[in-house]
Amino acid sequence: MDINSANIEQIVRQVLEGMNTSAAPAASAGPVPTKCKAAVLTGIEKVELKEFPIPELGDDDMLVKVEGCGVCGTDAHEYKRDPFGLIPTVLGHEGTGEIVKIGKNVKVDSAGKPLKVGDKVVTCLIFKDSPEITMYDLNKKNVGSADVYGLMPDDNVHLNGWFADYIVIRKGSTVFNVSDLDLDSRVLIEPSAVLIHAVERAKTTGILRFNSHVVVQGCGPIGLICIAVLRTMGVENIVAVDGEEKRLEFAKKMGADKTVNFKNYKDIDALANAVKDACGGLGAEFAFQCTGSPVAHSNIYKFIRAGGGLCELGFFVNGGDATINPHFDICQKEIVTVGSWTYELRDYATTFDFLKRAKAIGIPMSDLITHRFPLEQIDEAFKTNISMQGLKVAIYNK
Ligand SMILES: [Zn+2]
Repeated sequence: MDINSANIEQIVRQVLEGMNTSAAPAASAGPVPTKCKAAVLTGIEKVELKEFPIPELGDDDMLVKVEGCGVCGTDAHEYKRDPFGLIPTVLGHEGTGEIVKIGKNVKVDSAGKPLKVGDKVVTCLIFKDSPEITMYDLNKKNVGSADVYGLMPDDNVHLNGWFADYIVIRKGSTVFNVSDLDLDSRVLIEPSAVLIHAVERAKTTGILRFNSHVVVQGCGPIGLICIAVLRTMGVENIVAVDGEEKRLEFAKKMGADKTVNFKNYKDIDALANAVKDACGGLGAEFAFQCTGSPVAHSNIYKFIRAGGGLCELGFFVNGGDATINPHFDICQKEIVTVGSWTYELRDYATTFDFLKRAKAIGIPMSDLITHRFPLEQIDEAFKTNISMQGLKVAIYNK
């Protein structure tokens, strides 16, 4: 075939038409595989890597190649007992990845930022009934009243959890372009949002101030991120309470000023005195309860001074009843208590900024991720989370 300039012009026009999104149903960076793997929880403590076809994308959908996803306590509960009745299901709700294919109607994220193939994203809540919701809506809905990828029953798309090679983000999902955050930070967005929300709840009491003595009880990932959030917002006097020296050391790296190991004290009175001493003598102006232990809930009131505040955020599942003395613990001291539960859409934007600031002031957030497993070792990842060997366990895809 003789290629003259007229032919070239025709070829160029054909190529350009091929690139036009109205001619092609979805834009993609290159060839996308037709099949991929997802980790399906098929029974109690039974995860199977299954192959699924990658479905045709709708005009409002996105195909995201999963880069990483944290294992959450919620995942471990589901793995052990199926309390939400989701089996069979693809778990993983702390995920992030890269857009590899995008429907022609998808132009911006839930904050109004442009979205295109190659951008790194996270998802937040799914509002199927009101898909137009953005983070600027002052809705009070949190996870309890909306769906979340990775905590949904299986359906005919299958790719609706982040423990997979790919995930299909569908209409009505809230999604954020987080290309300006590194992968570890992106994996930590969801658990960090829990703490941003908790601190927002604490602030509603009007008690938490920059110069407050603040107790953070429990130095698992949630307590440690709580310390990082407080430190990043400028709170100086943070006292970490835990029973493990290693975790208390970590608490100092995250910004705790002092630590108290409860195992060193024979009873609650001795422990309370040690915490009060660490808080300048009078006790904490504010306390965050970050364990799932009823005894820890009972104890924390003893650490708080008169007129102080408490944010309870440790009980993601029913941990049983806790005993308190309403006279001494609440009335006499006039303690203001708030509960905190997951997060709202708006907390996500705050979380992105928190992660950038934490990095800028040298808080080693990445060190929280102590175990990184490939998808093939998902079972080991669950078991590592359950045995509480490390802090944050995560799946990282190659
Ligand atoms: Zn989670």
